[in-house]
Amino acid sequence: MVGSSMNDCLFCKIAGGTIPANIIYQDDHVVAFDDINPQAPHHKIIIPRKHIPTLNDVQAEDETLVGHMAHTASILARQLNIAEPGYRLVMNCNAGAGQTVFHIHFHLLGGRRMSWPPG
Ligand code: AMP
Ligand code: ZN
Repeated sequence: MVGSSMNDCLFCKIAGGTIPANIIYQDDHVVAFDDINPQAPHHKIIIPRKHIPTLNDVQAEDETLVGHMAHTASILARQLNIAEPGYRLVMNCNAGAGQTVFHIHFHLLGGRRMSWPPG
């Protein structure tokens, strides 16, 4: 799949520092940064440093990592003061769901009322 290898992956390059992003948090396992095309007043992207193309590719050994991504999102939401009013955490899986970057990521969206169902 085009753009799915580590060498040709936008989010691997952001994690590695070769493509700039406004990074708001990083540790040994995850990186979080501003979405370049925000869909809400707060729109952050949380990625693992490990290249995993889609949620379908997550293995048992990745469960702690994906849990750490979700926990990081909740900590960032609290720091952004959107934990109480509420926020949305989204992971699109494959093109039919709107995935365009094939390196798993959570969208952390907040700062406005969210509608349901999503489009
Ligand atoms: P998805 O469509 O779920 O794969 O989400 C990909 C997200 O990455 C979109 O919300 C894009 O706006 C965002 N994005 C694409 N390129 C960049 C970039 N260079 N820096 C930050 N976010 C980006
Ligand atoms: Zn990648």
